[in-house]
Amino acid sequence: MSSLFSKARKRLKLAAKYVHVDPDVMEKLKSPQETLHASLMVRMDDGSLRAFNAWRCRYDDTRGPTKGGIRFYPKVNLDEVVALAFWMTFKCAVVNLPFGGAKGGVAVDSKKLSNTELERLSRAYVRALPNFIGPDRDIPAPDAYTNATVMGWMANEYASMVGHSSPAVITGKPIVLGGSLGRDDATGRGGYYVLRHIEKELRLTPKKTRVVVQGYGNAGFPCASLLHADGYRIIGLSDSNSAIYDPDGMDPHAVMEHKTKTGQISGAPTHGNCKEMSNQELLESDSDLLIPAALENQVTTENAERIKARVVLELANGPVTPLADDILNERGIIVVPDILANAGGVTVSYFEWAQNRAGYYWSLEEVHKQMRSFIEPQTKAIWGIKEEKEIDLRTAAYVLALRRIGEAVSARGTRAFFKRS
Ligand code: NAD
Repeated sequence: MSSLFSKARKRLKLAAKYVHVDPDVMEKLKSPQETLHASLMVRMDDGSLRAFNAWRCRYDDTRGPTKGGIRFYPKVNLDEVVALAFWMTFKCAVVNLPFGGAKGGVAVDSKKLSNTELERLSRAYVRALPNFIGPDRDIPAPDAYTNATVMGWMANEYASMVGHSSPAVITGKPIVLGGSLGRDDATGRGGYYVLRHIEKELRLTPKKTRVVVQGYGNAGFPCASLLHADGYRIIGLSDSNSAIYDPDGMDPHAVMEHKTKTGQISGAPTHGNCKEMSNQELLESDSDLLIPAALENQVTTENAERIKARVVLELANGPVTPLADDILNERGIIVVPDILANAGGVTVSYFEWAQNRAGYYWSLEEVHKQMRSFIEPQTKAIWGIKEEKEIDLRTAAYVLALRRIGEAVSARGTRAFFKRS
């Protein structure tokens, strides 16, 4: 298997040096449990039939049904889907959710489809997975270029296949179709809870901390807003078109208002002398806290030496490559890893699944309270492992996750157990 997955597995090998797990555990985690490839045949609006490549991977279900998003993106491929499913396995274990990890994708430029074509594609995806997904088996959710509407179509298609309503089969649905309050900003909010919980350890003080956020979507915007409300100074923001930087700061809501009106953040109102720059320049600009919240592979060996922030909070999945990670570690820059920093999204997805199964829905206050109660103790535990073993935060997060997955695999018997009988 090629690059992204092999990079992902390197993190596991590193963590295994610091936690004792039975060799059976490593054998089990070496490769995905189950992957499915399908060619989705979709009738287009012009009457033609088109085939789209689609994948779903259930990486490991030892700790519970598998959980992970579906992305609609032209470059999606098997390697990426498997790597993301691997990360989900560890992310769910980090926050101690009763789930394994999965991921899915369709190779499509969804912006080029009409809404009716998008609906047909979404429904075709579910029809291709008749015995693969299910509330006790594998529970998809939104990811890049899929959203609540797509999840609503998919839940409806599943219900028509099984003959009854089954909202717990998928999360991230519209609220009126069984979605949870608080799912929309959960990823950014989760990152905010993580950061504020170890703020002292990270030696950050709100009023003195200058923040740059790359990517201004579902993950980046809520995090920037919450930090701003607590006194952090947001000095740089970007989207796929442009980046703005103002050392005097900016109001994230005013920038979002401008982006909603004009479709771009370029030209948004700020407090002082705003400079426009490229996304690469923004990553390397003078700041204390850098929050990559757009795409993978943004901090690489090309720019890691020039990153000026003291702390990097990974809201995106995989924004720092493993070699860049080594450079940042050597330079004393603390990276709060994706499997912890962006786990708020899957945590509220878990709440949605639990609410669907109970048929009882929580208030927004309850969602926030429960999210804190899941995320904060794990954040402290990971910081404790980092200190105790003198390792970086990412390895510490993998150590915690591997310990949990290892216990679950071992509970079914290891080679030591079976050799005795
Ligand atoms: P989104 O589509 O809502 O937002 C992405 C943002 O990044 C947009 O503002 C887009 O313009 C910007 N962007 C795209 N390419 C860029 C580039 N080259 N440079 C700068 N900005 C660029 O997506 P999202 O849901 O916020 O996801 C962002 C990241 O967070 C992804 O890595 C995703 O896997 C991860 N993530 C999201 C969630 C979630 O619940 N939304 C959960 C976990 C992880």
